[in-house]
Amino acid sequence: ILTLAVESSCDETSAAVLKGGRTVLSNIISTQIPVHQKFGGVVPEIASRKHIVNILPVVDEAVRQAGIRLQDIDQVAVTYGPGLVGALLVGVSAAKALAFSLDVPLIGVNHLEGHIFANFLSAPDLEPPFMALVVSGGHTALVDVRGYNHFHMMGQTRDDAAGEAFDKIARVMGLPYPGGPRIDALAARGNAMAIDFPQALTEKGNYEFSFSGLKSAVLNYINSEKMKGHALNQPDIAASFQRSVIEVLVGKAFQAVQETGRSTLVLAGGVAANSGLEQRLREAAEKRGVRFCYPDRILCTDNAAMIGCRGFYQSLAGGFSDLYLNAVPGLSLTDRNE
Ligand code: ATP
Ligand code: MG
Ligand code: FE
Repeated sequence: ILTLAVESSCDETSAAVLKGGRTVLSNIISTQIPVHQKFGGVVPEIASRKHIVNILPVVDEAVRQAGIRLQDIDQVAVTYGPGLVGALLVGVSAAKALAFSLDVPLIGVNHLEGHIFANFLSAPDLEPPFMALVVSGGHTALVDVRGYNHFHMMGQTRDDAAGEAFDKIARVMGLPYPGGPRIDALAARGNAMAIDFPQALTEKGNYEFSFSGLKSAVLNYINSEKMKGHALNQPDIAASFQRSVIEVLVGKAFQAVQETGRSTLVLAGGVAANSGLEQRLREAAEKRGVRFCYPDRILCTDNAAMIGCRGFYQSLAGGFSDLYLNAVPGLSLTDRNE
């Protein structure tokens, strides 16, 4: 089975071709980061326009690099949410047109499920059940993956996502978009114990997250330092902020692993690229005898290969869409049992 996958939920235009569920024949990612950088964040209208320009060349390139012909495609998978509505619509429209003209099935994929499935591409022997910690630009959640089409939500964020906090704090420190990788690099040379920032909802058995209090605390700290005329110690702020995020994520993830008796923990989403988070999770997993997986860096942030992987396994459960498929910008991660 050859799956063509399309992803355009935010600021990456991407297309991929997969053979079966786990063999990536091509994964083309055209990022708009440089375009949005001068605005300090993604400008939705510009993102949509760029997707329109990029989508067909990116699909063509994915087919070319896969060494196949467009007519060889057996099914088309596409992200239909969550994301920016105008951005999603470009991918959804293109995927529908391709599925219709090739007369093949269409599969609407939840972007967040896609982030989790990136792990199947990086760990060929990984199989459910496992616990998934999803930490992306707009979402933070713990999902018990009981089967390829059987998910149970343990909890998610009540307010800001971890990635959002990274980006906002970086912005206030004057660092370019996206802030996550910059904070990561700064944190590596800072003292994580320099400043005590809060950690929210840490009581046992609570799998919800909240990062807005931490975000405010860091912003207040920065403002008061500026007011006092102090030069900001950026590495210390980054390292201390990152420690707070990591402690909460690691604590909750292993509690969930313990409660469910899972023997594997996987990390997913753009923030999975954070070296501090990955390192702490790996150490904690080793200590507890838990297997820890996280995607290759290129598969952590938005890409179509992960959408193709999710689409393939969804198709096994008959999870096809019709040509009325619409973009659902607020689509969330929910329980699923098919
Ligand atoms: P969502 O998947 O929730 O819809 P998104 O698609 O915009 O959001 P992702 O592609 O999952 O987000 O990831 C982008 C996020 O990852 C940004 O917030 C970025 O700052 C963060 N990020 C990327 N690399 C790192 C890193 N090394 N450390 C921390 N954060 C990082
Ligand atoms: Mg992005
Ligand atoms: Fe994403």
